[in-house]
Amino acid sequence: MELHACLKLVVTCHCVPAVLTSCTLWPCLLSYCSTGGCRQVDTASLHDNEYRNYSQITDRAADLWSQAVLTPPDHVMRFALNAVTDTLPHNANLHLWGKKPSSGCQLCPERQTLQHVLNHCSVALERRRYNQRHDDVLRSLFKFISSHLQPGHQVTADLPGEHYCLRQDVATTDSRPDIVIWSDQSIILVELTIPFQPGMDAAAERKQAKYADLLARCRTICHSHFITIEVGSRGFINATSFDKLYSQLSRSKQSERRELEAEITRKVIARSHDIWCQRN
Ligand SMILES: [Zn+2]
Repeated sequence: MELHACLKLVVTCHCVPAVLTSCTLWPCLLSYCSTGGCRQVDTASLHDNEYRNYSQITDRAADLWSQAVLTPPDHVMRFALNAVTDTLPHNANLHLWGKKPSSGCQLCPERQTLQHVLNHCSVALERRRYNQRHDDVLRSLFKFISSHLQPGHQVTADLPGEHYCLRQDVATTDSRPDIVIWSDQSIILVELTIPFQPGMDAAAERKQAKYADLLARCRTICHSHFITIEVGSRGFINATSFDKLYSQLSRSKQSERRELEAEITRKVIARSHDIWCQRN
């Protein structure tokens, strides 16, 4: 079934005391993660609407996510699972379920959907909640890159507490990519985005447009690349974007790369859960 192929949900639940291997058991998993009791879920509608959004998720991202949701406390796992199926009690759902008269956000005038809570609430943005999630992930990337630089390269990151320094010949622009790796012969610009899925391709395109001028300028100086790294706000990495980054670094063990990806998956789920808890 498509769900299992896409998400690789391998979780034991109370209702079925075995590893779930079939899509037909998904309602049981939802029962466990949402209420602990039995609840009927229309799997057909989930397949038709929500799961289609995950067709671009690679097996690697799905495996990392499946492992990550087993790591945190139960309430974070419940959040992660219900975020995937959009069955969390945000106001748009509560209104749909007849439990609230309005679907409005309690922080801003917009409709409170899951996407709004995790990525687009102007008040959450103002209070830098998305920045904290972004910087947390960026710190993991920066640490990994710093320890896997090719000889002769330097790296800088736009992070609180870090000194952001660029090659003199590109430092005069206003653009501040999240990470810049450079040597005498090359410049690599790295931008991290944590968009709502689906929407990774669009997020990458926005970043490419934003930094097109800087990249063009860098290319007049030396060999230059622009790499976007995407991690969905529900915790699925864009594995291809990570592979592009690895190809620009010194050789790293597969176990090190997977540990980085697992750490980032866990961080995004945990930070998105924090954002969720502060939605009202
Ligand atoms: Zn809002």
